[in-house]
Amino acid sequence: MEAIYMDHNATTPLRAEVREAMSPYLDDVFGNASSIHAFGREAAKGINRAREQVAEALGCRLEEVVFTGCGTEADNQAIKGVAYANRERGNHIITTRIEHHAVLHTCEYLERQGFRVTYLPVDEYGVVDPDDVRRAITDRTVLVSIMHANNEVGAVQPLAEIGRVVKERGVLFHTDAVQTFGKLPTRVDELGVDLLSLSAHKLYGPKGVGALYVRQGTRLDALLHGGHHERNRRAGTENVAGIVGLGKAAELALAEMEDDARRLAALRERLWEGIAAHVEGVRRNGHPTQTLPGTLNVCFEYIEGESIILSLDMKGVAVSSGSACTSDVLEPSHVLLAMGVPPAIAQGSVRFSLGRDNTVEQVDYVVAELPGIIERLRAMSPFSEQEPFTAEAGPHVRKK
Ligand code: PLP
Repeated sequence: MEAIYMDHNATTPLRAEVREAMSPYLDDVFGNASSIHAFGREAAKGINRAREQVAEALGCRLEEVVFTGCGTEADNQAIKGVAYANRERGNHIITTRIEHHAVLHTCEYLERQGFRVTYLPVDEYGVVDPDDVRRAITDRTVLVSIMHANNEVGAVQPLAEIGRVVKERGVLFHTDAVQTFGKLPTRVDELGVDLLSLSAHKLYGPKGVGALYVRQGTRLDALLHGGHHERNRRAGTENVAGIVGLGKAAELALAEMEDDARRLAALRERLWEGIAAHVEGVRRNGHPTQTLPGTLNVCFEYIEGESIILSLDMKGVAVSSGSACTSDVLEPSHVLLAMGVPPAIAQGSVRFSLGRDNTVEQVDYVVAELPGIIERLRAMSPFSEQEPFTAEAGPHVRKK
């Protein structure tokens, strides 16, 4: 049985070209990039090249890219860094209810430190209204943090419009672009952001390395204190091979972005149309067009997403429910709840996230296997005797 991986929003495999680019830095070029001898200079060259590659994808200056240990660290650095550095200006932060926990838990932590946080709602497609941002800003607001695209449902936020609203009020604007960097254009001036988080392992780079874009002149406290690395923004000897891998992955993704997006969107639609045609009681979550090319989130009535995932796993197919980081917790996704999906339906959500190696044949295999799986699970489900939930279920429901 061929293993089929459709969980690319959780992580992606390392591309061969990326491994090749990293290889010397795991071997001969082992120097500390801060050392002034030849070994150190060679390592520093690798980091400099990666900084150029990431800056090219962001349309920013080299010195505005700060390499971090992961996307989570970039989010923490952006939010805590701005909050602490601007304390005398205000203590109010605005974010949304659908953020990744790297943002939500950071904001909750800051609330315990005396900051005030507004969690904006989203509409039924998972999209934030720029007018809600406008209304939420006060004279005490120091930061607005809104993700570029949601990791669970794929909904892309109108960042440029929100950016204009935020700028009018002279507030700093951060976006978690972990799911879009390398998949959609992320030029910082077009998005209107002052800070942007990204992570290498979502774009076929290595795990454990990310970056934070910090617009020149932004007041930011450091999270880590120590050496003078990353222009005093992030102390700690650099993960040279990881950073080189991130740079290479960014370069490749930028060059192939349009073709990849077109191909993945076609596969995503084929998957949804196949599911909708062969399975009853399904609902598509997220925005139908303003969405990540490879992401499809579907609720199957009367069944828990977990049992579908395990059944698909037995057929060799890897997908997830909610975000991978919370998949050991059987609670309905906070993202779907924020979108107004009833909890009982939200329990039955499955996220298919397609990537470079997925094929039409793989999509057709999943479409062929799903009806049998759903029928078997529904027959065992204690909920299946109840009234269908479709009355409340919103726009994408295919009724029984
Ligand atoms: N933000 C989003 C939207 C994500 O999807 C993820 C990872 O799932 C992260 C942040 C965290 O990134 P990392 O795994 O590099 O810490």
